[in-house]
Amino acid sequence: MPGINAGTKGIGIIGHPIGHSLSPIMHNAAFKHLKLDICYLAFDVMPGDLGDAVRGLKALGFLGANVTIPYKVEVARYLDELASEASAIGAVNTIVVKPEGLLVGYNTDAAGFLRALKYDADFEARGKRAVILGAGGAARACVYALASGGAREIVILNRTPERAEKLAEDMRRHFSGAPGEEIAFRSGDLSSLPGGPFVEVVAGADLLVNATSLGMWPESDALSPLPESVPLASTTVICDLVYRPVATRFIKFGQSRGARVVSGLSVLLHQGALSFRMWTGVDAPLNVMREALVNAVVGGGSGK
Ligand code: NAP
Repeated sequence: MPGINAGTKGIGIIGHPIGHSLSPIMHNAAFKHLKLDICYLAFDVMPGDLGDAVRGLKALGFLGANVTIPYKVEVARYLDELASEASAIGAVNTIVVKPEGLLVGYNTDAAGFLRALKYDADFEARGKRAVILGAGGAARACVYALASGGAREIVILNRTPERAEKLAEDMRRHFSGAPGEEIAFRSGDLSSLPGGPFVEVVAGADLLVNATSLGMWPESDALSPLPESVPLASTTVICDLVYRPVATRFIKFGQSRGARVVSGLSVLLHQGALSFRMWTGVDAPLNVMREALVNAVVGGGSGK
């Protein structure tokens, strides 16, 4: 990269707060490696300023942006078009500014999640039974991804069970009449574990995903979404969306049972790689991006 100059193109991430984001490190490492004259910046956008920030992408000639907490839902109202997956999930994490100036919203969290499962654990959703812990934005992307991939049964357990049932209902509606096998969407109360009716469901799952924010640094070792007395099969694939630390208590629990594990850092990497390709038209250099992420998390003192 020749260094930032008058021809350098911009990409940004919009969120609030934004200081924790690893996306600038990951993407700038990739641009440098491929000698692309693009710079990725983080923007801490105050509530109330989101519309101006999004319209500014077009006005300033940006290639696009990522969107993160708390704006993944709200941003849709400032976009010209939504891709089908972003509309079904109800969240946008990637904006592309098209050459004709249209702002189009996509969601790469869903496909990035499936890719991480495939790369790291050789997991394919088709015909599988999955349990998702959590019912927020990240859980919505996971449930949509698994259902699109042909999962047989998806059970959503959340601290607020009404939110889990709302997600199950949205997905039942979206996938009803879709070609292929009928998908069973069920929901329940996360706090009913370990003694409740879902213990057997967890024990028999092909995939168990933490899509809650529990386990996030700095309280990482104190918190896990799953009581460790719950039995787990060694054939179950464990995925934690939390990526700080890389080895969360949930991931360590899976490892202790001999399960294959997929870290949140890998999900972050693959969603980023898909966004990268949308903005640049070039395949993302996965190894370079992975190394940048690992160095940032471990080097930041929270990657144990
Ligand atoms: P969100 O929409 O705020 O949802 C948070 C979820 O965590 C909800 O299900 C919430 O339950 C649950 N939760 C929070 N505190 C809890 C507690 N003390 N006990 C039990 N459940 C609790 O957030 P999100 O966007 O879905 O993100 C969830 C996590 O995924 C975050 O850690 C985020 O960093 C991570 N993430 C990672 C990636 C990646 O690429 N690796 C991508 C997206 C998100 P209630 O509904 O009851 O409040």
